[in-house]
Amino acid sequence: MSVPVDARVPWVAMYHSVGDCSDDPYRITVTPERLDRQLTWLARRGLRGVSVAELLAAPDRRRLVGLTFDDGYADFVTGALPVLREHRCTATLFVLPGRLGGDNAWDPLGPRKPLLTADGVRRAAAEGIEIGSHGLTHTDLTRADDLTLKAETAESRTVLAGLLGTDVAGFCYPYGTVDARAVAAVRDAGYDYACAIDPGPLNGPHALPRVHVGQNDRAVRLFLKYRLHGLRRRPVEGL
Ligand SMILES: [Zn+2]
Repeated sequence: MSVPVDARVPWVAMYHSVGDCSDDPYRITVTPERLDRQLTWLARRGLRGVSVAELLAAPDRRRLVGLTFDDGYADFVTGALPVLREHRCTATLFVLPGRLGGDNAWDPLGPRKPLLTADGVRRAAAEGIEIGSHGLTHTDLTRADDLTLKAETAESRTVLAGLLGTDVAGFCYPYGTVDARAVAAVRDAGYDYACAIDPGPLNGPHALPRVHVGQNDRAVRLFLKYRLHGLRRRPVEGL
């Protein structure tokens, strides 16, 4: 079954944690087995998962799907990386340089999940994973004052670049919340692109829409999400 997709509507899947999902009130976790089946589903359709930077740089995006993992959970290295390697996929991992080695303290409910340390982030980068910024501390940028907004965007990029020894191209809005002021701050901080969830009229290289992919997304739901994404989203101008 071939799926015609408008190349200007890049398909970007949004994951968070990869591990045990028995206690998961925010539905942010998939098991490694489910991720494996979802990547197998993509491969059967001639699609390959890549980092967002690779997706955006590709001359022809029709056979590529961006894979993103938000928050930088420690289980990325143990749960996601072996599966990605097996499928010869890359991905983008959006980490919080102000919380490395900490946990998801911003989520009031649900289990504490440890976040990668600086060494863990470097290990993922060494395996070909693109590292992007998710801000310093997981702050809603639409509610941040000017100083916080600048720190969460520009400072997080500087800290991450220092940690990795490379440039940082991508940003990801915490909670997916975005407004014109946040987009301007992210652009001013020097990022090439930024991921949102449902950016509406802000849709563009600095507010890319993404599709949540979860533990319940088996073949049929994945197919519908894939199709609906191409039909519902407006082409991203400027790509
Ligand atoms: Zn997040």
